[in-house]
Amino acid sequence: VTPCPPAPPELREQTLVLVKPDAVQRRLVGDVIGRFERRGFKLVAMKLLQVPELQEGRGYVCGYPCIIAPRCHQADRGLLDRHYQHLQQKPFYPALLAYMTSGPLVAMVWEGYNVVRSTRAMVGDTDSAQAAAGTIRGDLSMHVSRNVVHASDSVETALREIGFWFQRDELVAWESGDSQYTYGP
Ligand code: GDP
Ligand code: MG
Repeated sequence: VTPCPPAPPELREQTLVLVKPDAVQRRLVGDVIGRFERRGFKLVAMKLLQVPELQEGRGYVCGYPCIIAPRCHQADRGLLDRHYQHLQQKPFYPALLAYMTSGPLVAMVWEGYNVVRSTRAMVGDTDSAQAAAGTIRGDLSMHVSRNVVHASDSVETALREIGFWFQRDELVAWESGDSQYTYGP
Protein backbone atom coordinates (compact mmCIF):
# COMPACT_ATOMS: atom_id res chain seq x y z
CA VAL A 1 0.00 0.00 0.00
CA THR A 2 1.37 3.39 -1.00
CA PRO A 3 1.29 5.79 1.98
CA CYS A 4 -0.97 8.84 1.47
CA PRO A 5 0.68 12.28 1.42
CA PRO A 6 0.10 14.37 4.56
CA ALA A 7 -3.13 16.41 4.58
CA PRO A 8 -2.84 20.23 4.41
CA PRO A 9 -3.25 22.22 7.68
CA GLU A 10 -6.88 23.26 7.04
CA LEU A 11 -7.87 19.60 7.07
CA ARG A 12 -6.08 19.09 10.39
CA GLU A 13 -8.33 21.09 12.72
CA GLN A 14 -9.17 19.05 15.82
CA THR A 15 -11.90 19.05 18.43
CA LEU A 16 -12.68 17.26 21.69
CA VAL A 17 -15.91 15.26 21.88
CA LEU A 18 -17.13 13.57 25.05
CA VAL A 19 -19.87 10.96 25.00
CA LYS A 20 -21.22 11.69 28.45
CA PRO A 21 -22.15 9.09 31.11
CA ASP A 22 -25.90 9.13 30.30
CA ALA A 23 -25.12 8.22 26.69
CA VAL A 24 -22.80 5.37 27.71
CA GLN A 25 -25.52 3.99 30.01
CA ARG A 26 -28.08 4.32 27.22
CA ARG A 27 -25.81 2.47 24.71
CA LEU A 28 -25.59 5.51 22.43
CA VAL A 29 -21.80 5.49 21.96
CA GLY A 30 -21.98 3.79 18.57
CA ASP A 31 -24.69 6.15 17.30
CA VAL A 32 -22.64 9.23 18.23
CA ILE A 33 -19.40 7.88 16.77
CA GLY A 34 -21.26 6.76 13.64
CA ARG A 35 -22.50 10.26 12.93
CA PHE A 36 -19.01 11.78 12.99
CA GLU A 37 -17.60 8.89 10.95
CA ARG A 38 -20.32 9.11 8.30
CA ARG A 39 -19.86 12.88 8.02
CA GLY A 40 -16.27 12.15 7.02
CA PHE A 41 -14.30 13.23 10.08
CA LYS A 42 -11.27 11.26 11.19
CA LEU A 43 -10.97 9.73 14.65
CA VAL A 44 -7.48 10.42 16.06
CA ALA A 45 -7.89 9.49 19.75
CA MET A 46 -10.43 7.68 21.91
CA LYS A 47 -10.69 6.25 25.42
CA LEU A 48 -13.27 5.11 27.95
CA LEU A 49 -12.73 6.46 31.44
CA GLN A 50 -14.59 7.27 34.60
CA VAL A 51 -13.82 10.44 36.50
CA PRO A 52 -14.01 9.34 40.15
CA GLU A 53 -16.58 10.94 42.37
CA LEU A 54 -15.52 12.72 45.57
CA GLN A 55 -17.64 11.28 48.41
CA GLU A 56 -17.85 12.72 51.93
CA GLY A 57 -15.57 10.68 54.22
CA ARG A 58 -14.63 8.16 51.49
CA GLY A 59 -12.43 10.20 49.16
CA TYR A 60 -12.53 9.50 45.43
CA VAL A 61 -14.79 6.61 44.53
CA CYS A 62 -15.19 4.88 41.19
CA GLY A 63 -16.43 1.54 39.98
CA TYR A 64 -13.26 -0.36 40.95
CA PRO A 65 -11.70 -0.86 44.38
CA CYS A 66 -8.81 1.59 44.86
CA ILE A 67 -5.68 -0.33 45.79
CA ILE A 68 -3.11 2.31 44.85
CA ALA A 69 -4.52 5.10 46.99
CA PRO A 70 -4.84 7.99 46.76
CA ARG A 71 -4.11 8.70 43.07
CA CYS A 72 -4.58 5.57 40.99
CA HIS A 73 -6.69 7.40 38.42
CA GLN A 74 -5.59 9.19 35.29
CA ALA A 75 -8.56 11.50 35.78
CA ASP A 76 -9.73 13.34 38.86
CA ARG A 77 -12.13 16.01 39.95
CA GLY A 78 -9.58 18.66 38.90
CA LEU A 79 -10.00 17.56 35.29
CA LEU A 80 -13.69 18.48 35.37
CA ASP A 81 -12.94 21.74 37.22
CA ARG A 82 -10.57 22.69 34.41
CA HIS A 83 -12.87 21.46 31.66
CA TYR A 84 -15.88 23.35 33.06
CA GLN A 85 -13.90 26.35 34.40
CA HIS A 86 -16.45 28.78 32.90
CA LEU A 87 -19.32 27.18 34.86
CA GLN A 88 -17.86 26.80 38.35
CA GLN A 89 -19.92 29.67 39.77
CA LYS A 90 -23.22 28.43 38.30
CA PRO A 91 -25.86 27.04 40.67
CA PHE A 92 -26.04 23.82 38.64
CA TYR A 93 -22.27 23.15 38.88
CA PRO A 94 -22.53 20.51 41.68
CA ALA A 95 -25.22 18.72 39.69
CA LEU A 96 -23.01 18.88 36.60
CA LEU A 97 -20.10 17.30 38.52
CA ALA A 98 -22.37 14.55 39.86
CA TYR A 99 -23.62 13.88 36.32
CA MET A 100 -20.14 13.77 34.77
CA THR A 101 -18.81 11.42 37.50
CA SER A 102 -21.90 9.17 37.52
CA GLY A 103 -20.36 6.55 35.21
CA PRO A 104 -17.88 5.99 32.42
CA LEU A 105 -17.62 8.41 29.53
CA VAL A 106 -15.89 8.23 26.15
CA ALA A 107 -13.39 10.95 25.26
CA MET A 108 -12.46 11.39 21.61
CA VAL A 109 -10.52 13.70 19.34
CA TRP A 110 -11.95 14.18 15.84
CA GLU A 111 -10.08 15.83 13.00
CA GLY A 112 -11.07 17.44 9.71
CA TYR A 113 -12.01 20.58 7.82
CA ASN A 114 -13.98 23.04 10.01
CA VAL A 115 -14.44 20.26 12.55
CA VAL A 116 -15.09 22.53 15.55
CA ARG A 117 -18.01 24.42 13.99
CA SER A 118 -19.37 21.38 12.18
CA THR A 119 -19.46 19.18 15.27
CA ARG A 120 -21.14 21.95 17.30
CA ALA A 121 -23.82 22.15 14.60
CA MET A 122 -24.20 18.35 14.66
CA VAL A 123 -24.46 18.37 18.48
CA GLY A 124 -27.18 21.04 18.61
CA ASP A 125 -28.42 23.44 21.27
CA THR A 126 -27.11 23.02 24.85
CA ASP A 127 -30.71 22.66 26.03
CA SER A 128 -31.87 19.38 24.53
CA ALA A 129 -35.46 20.57 24.67
CA GLN A 130 -34.54 23.37 22.22
CA ALA A 131 -32.21 21.29 20.04
CA ALA A 132 -33.27 20.84 16.42
CA ALA A 133 -34.32 17.44 15.13
CA GLY A 134 -31.44 15.89 13.24
CA THR A 135 -28.87 17.02 15.80
CA ILE A 136 -27.45 14.57 18.33
CA ARG A 137 -29.11 16.28 21.27
CA GLY A 138 -32.31 16.89 19.31
CA ASP A 139 -32.55 13.24 18.32
CA LEU A 140 -31.27 11.49 21.43
CA SER A 141 -32.04 13.60 24.51
CA MET A 142 -34.72 15.49 26.40
CA HIS A 143 -33.13 17.79 29.00
CA VAL A 144 -30.15 20.15 29.47
CA SER A 145 -28.93 18.17 32.49
CA ARG A 146 -28.61 14.94 30.44
CA ASN A 147 -27.54 16.20 27.04
CA VAL A 148 -25.50 13.21 25.83
CA VAL A 149 -22.39 14.88 24.39
CA HIS A 150 -19.80 17.61 24.72
CA ALA A 151 -18.02 19.29 21.80
CA SER A 152 -15.47 22.12 22.06
CA ASP A 153 -16.89 25.55 21.17
CA SER A 154 -13.86 27.14 19.43
CA VAL A 155 -10.50 26.16 17.98
CA GLU A 156 -8.71 27.70 21.00
CA THR A 157 -10.99 25.89 23.48
CA ALA A 158 -10.45 22.64 21.56
CA LEU A 159 -6.67 22.89 21.86
CA ARG A 160 -6.96 23.49 25.61
CA GLU A 161 -9.56 20.77 26.17
CA ILE A 162 -7.67 18.13 24.18
CA GLY A 163 -4.72 18.87 26.48
CA PHE A 164 -6.90 18.31 29.57
CA TRP A 165 -8.15 14.91 28.43
CA PHE A 166 -5.26 13.45 26.42
CA GLN A 167 -1.51 13.02 26.60
CA ARG A 168 0.28 14.00 23.42
CA ASP A 169 1.17 10.37 22.58
CA GLU A 170 -2.46 9.26 22.82
CA LEU A 171 -3.23 11.10 19.56
CA VAL A 172 -2.60 9.03 16.45
CA ALA A 173 -1.51 10.84 13.30
CA TRP A 174 -2.76 8.87 10.29
CA GLU A 175 -3.72 9.66 6.71
CA SER A 176 -7.07 8.34 5.56
CA GLY A 177 -7.16 6.96 2.04
CA ASP A 178 -10.61 8.42 1.30
CA SER A 179 -9.51 12.05 1.42
CA GLN A 180 -9.99 12.64 -2.35
CA TYR A 181 -13.57 11.39 -2.04
CA THR A 182 -14.47 13.45 1.03
CA TYR A 183 -12.65 16.67 0.12
CA GLY A 184 -12.04 16.50 -3.62
CA PRO A 185 -8.63 16.90 -5.31
P1 GDP B 1 -22.34 23.20 25.83
O1 GDP B 1 -21.06 23.81 25.33
O2 GDP B 1 -23.43 23.21 24.79
O3 GDP B 1 -22.15 21.81 26.40
O4 GDP B 1 -22.90 24.15 27.00
P2 GDP B 1 -22.14 24.92 28.19
O5 GDP B 1 -20.66 24.98 27.95
O6 GDP B 1 -22.85 26.21 28.39
O7 GDP B 1 -22.45 24.01 29.44
C1 GDP B 1 -21.73 22.84 29.67
C2 GDP B 1 -22.66 21.77 30.18
O8 GDP B 1 -23.22 22.15 31.43
C3 GDP B 1 -23.89 21.48 29.31
O9 GDP B 1 -23.62 20.66 28.20
C4 GDP B 1 -24.81 20.81 30.30
O10 GDP B 1 -24.40 19.45 30.52
C5 GDP B 1 -24.51 21.59 31.57
N1 GDP B 1 -25.49 22.67 31.76
C6 GDP B 1 -25.54 23.86 31.12
N2 GDP B 1 -26.59 24.59 31.55
C7 GDP B 1 -27.21 23.84 32.49
C8 GDP B 1 -28.36 24.03 33.32
O11 GDP B 1 -29.04 25.06 33.27
N3 GDP B 1 -28.67 23.02 34.19
C9 GDP B 1 -27.96 21.86 34.26
N4 GDP B 1 -28.32 20.91 35.15
N5 GDP B 1 -26.86 21.65 33.50
C10 GDP B 1 -26.51 22.62 32.63
MG1 MG C 1 -19.39 24.44 26.36
